[in-house]
Amino acid sequence: VFNFAAGPATLPENVLLKAQSELYNWRGSGMSVMEMSHRGKEFLSIIQKAESDLRTLLNIPSEYAILFLQGGATTQFAAIPLNLVKPDDPVDYLVTGSWGDKAFKEAKKFSKAKVIWSGKSDNYTRIPSFEGLEQSPDAKYLHICANETIHGVEFKNYPTSKNGILIADMSSNFCSKPVDVSKFGIIYAGAQKNVGPSGVTIVIIRKDLIGNAQEITPIMLDYKIHADNNSLYNTPPCYCIYMCGLVFEDLLAQGGLEEVEKKNKKKAELLYSAIDLSNGFYRCPVEKSVRSLMNVPFTLEKPELEADFVKEAAKEKMIQLKGHRSVGGMRASIYNAMPLAGVEKLVAFMKDFQARHA
Ligand code: PLP
Repeated sequence: VFNFAAGPATLPENVLLKAQSELYNWRGSGMSVMEMSHRGKEFLSIIQKAESDLRTLLNIPSEYAILFLQGGATTQFAAIPLNLVKPDDPVDYLVTGSWGDKAFKEAKKFSKAKVIWSGKSDNYTRIPSFEGLEQSPDAKYLHICANETIHGVEFKNYPTSKNGILIADMSSNFCSKPVDVSKFGIIYAGAQKNVGPSGVTIVIIRKDLIGNAQEITPIMLDYKIHADNNSLYNTPPCYCIYMCGLVFEDLLAQGGLEEVEKKNKKKAELLYSAIDLSNGFYRCPVEKSVRSLMNVPFTLEKPELEADFVKEAAKEKMIQLKGHRSVGGMRASIYNAMPLAGVEKLVAFMKDFQARHA
């Protein structure tokens, strides 16, 4: 099947086959990765290789630490203010979709978080111009969600924080294109869309930001604990980290993120043009300049046909196309691991469906 799920999402077939081939016996160790001590030399080699390949892929400067954590990106919504600011400190949130909104609501508990712009009144279909943004004068950071998975809105360039650092939730476009990490204080991402199974969250953090956690910060949320222990303070999500490592190797073998971005652009252009050239039969509400390369939401001119669309597509082995329950319609998530053939098949199906129902 071609699986268009938003996450957990499809993984590269060659990565799954490689994992299968060493499932019982990892490279002659006689153990599955699931059975290894996280402090043994075998697993240490796995986590160190994963970290170093990710550093190469994203060209992450040595002043940044890479942490492999648990609790999903949702846990980072709280960990970020807890680690970076005091309860009375102002911090800014630019809200371009539901994930940014959730991050803000959590941050409010641990800081003086403020929404400096929200796209809610436009149903989260755009990103404002950065010039007009009124940032709080003393905000310690500016938080964005680089790609809103539900609404399909993606930053194509980034604002700067006036007096603090920029923080980005990149859960749904992590490793889909090159990123200048040095523009950010923190980049974080749940793995389960582009780089692995659910269960591990990757945090890339400038090292000088580590070590200032509020006193109430639970130990598992304290970046210093994890950085000092190379993500091995407690038992990490070993198998997930191993799988991410295989994906990083695969992305490097594809030629790195410039190549990956080219493929992603090609897939997205194909799908968006099928929508835009359908004479209104299909519609994508997102402003063209900020349409996501990863998550493509669309509706049908005749909403009563949407259930049939999803059902018929599934019969043709294109699954999980139903939109998020909060917005309805359809959503095709076309992460790194979705082959061009999957998008071509979807576009052909869309044309055929339209011909039969227009
Ligand atoms: N941020 C974004 C952009 C997401 O898409 C998601 C999940 O889909 C989350 C955060 C929450 O991630 P998790 O389920 O890993 O907590």
